[in-house]
Amino acid sequence: MLKRPRIVLLAFDGFPLDLFRPAMTPRLWQLGQDGGIAPQGGRTGLPSTTYPGFTSLLTGAGQWSHGVRTTAQRPGAVPGWAGANRTAVPTIMHAARDVGLRTAVVMGDHQLQRVMVLDDFDTAWPPAGIVPDGTELDAHGYPTNAALRSHLLEAASDPSVDLLFVHLNETDTLGHDLGPNAPATARCVRSADALVGELLDALAPDWERTVVAVTSDHDMVLRLPFPTIDPMASRDCAGLADDWIADGCAAWLRLTPGADPHMAIDRFSAMHGVAAWRWHEPNILLLLAAPGRIFAQPYVPITGIHGSLDTARTLAIVGGGHPAVDELGARIRDVAPRLRDWAPTLARILEIELPDAEGTDLLEPMASRAAG
Ligand SMILES: [Zn+2]
Repeated sequence: MLKRPRIVLLAFDGFPLDLFRPAMTPRLWQLGQDGGIAPQGGRTGLPSTTYPGFTSLLTGAGQWSHGVRTTAQRPGAVPGWAGANRTAVPTIMHAARDVGLRTAVVMGDHQLQRVMVLDDFDTAWPPAGIVPDGTELDAHGYPTNAALRSHLLEAASDPSVDLLFVHLNETDTLGHDLGPNAPATARCVRSADALVGELLDALAPDWERTVVAVTSDHDMVLRLPFPTIDPMASRDCAGLADDWIADGCAAWLRLTPGADPHMAIDRFSAMHGVAAWRWHEPNILLLLAAPGRIFAQPYVPITGIHGSLDTARTLAIVGGGHPAVDELGARIRDVAPRLRDWAPTLARILEIELPDAEGTDLLEPMASRAAG
């Protein structure tokens, strides 16, 4: 008789993928050696930024369903034509809670917590999405990994918790300010790995029923010394768009009513620094910057940037003693998992329904082969 599963979903913000290696992250590396690692990492949607990525991770849905299409917020644009500022579909945490499973949430970004509607969880830290006074904050005003330590270890030590979501933010802040390969960023990654080690040790007593999935939302690259890209300043593109919002190395544009979308795509994609585009709705265009380039916006990170194609990869590691880990590990070694694939996969292990999920249940093909 199988014991009831326990799942820990550990998510790093802006983890620099090049720093995932045995000497730098020994506990994460060993976890993946014993379970499974996607050799080229996992994949994110576009833009490769925090809110769309993590909302897809926890809902299993794409951004056109959950509605969170950018991390930038500006009234009129967001919420508005460029998306919502709260997910429109429930997360796996909500689905688990609704069927009576015990959940816990520990997050280093209280604003992201609100985007994913995890601020209403009575088992969440920070409580109600409000960081308690006296909490140690990083340079961007988010709780440090050290500030989360006691909360995540407490949740990991509680055998009654069925599903634990942990979000660690500090790698993102250091990556933006100092760069993905800076010594201080590397130190942060090392100490985050040590914290993972403590988390795994706290899970050890119940290891045989535990699944640990480790992901991140996007990679980080160095900004190159080029001017920022402003689609509205281009004379060739004049009149083709009537609003836009930058999201790091990506930008959403709303085309002017009556503008020919094909001409708009031709002109905007020919701008210096634009590498690619996505056209989804008749009047909505996503521009993606070339490596090292970023769009003009109120806050432009000094050193590390993300949002385009080159940062659309994630950590993708699975470990634990639960029997599903071997299958899942084998699967992600073969096929790079997308962020939206994790929630339906973990929902299967927990035997809960996630009707709004659009991702692939990574355990499905093998399960049906076994059944057939
Ligand atoms: Zn992020």
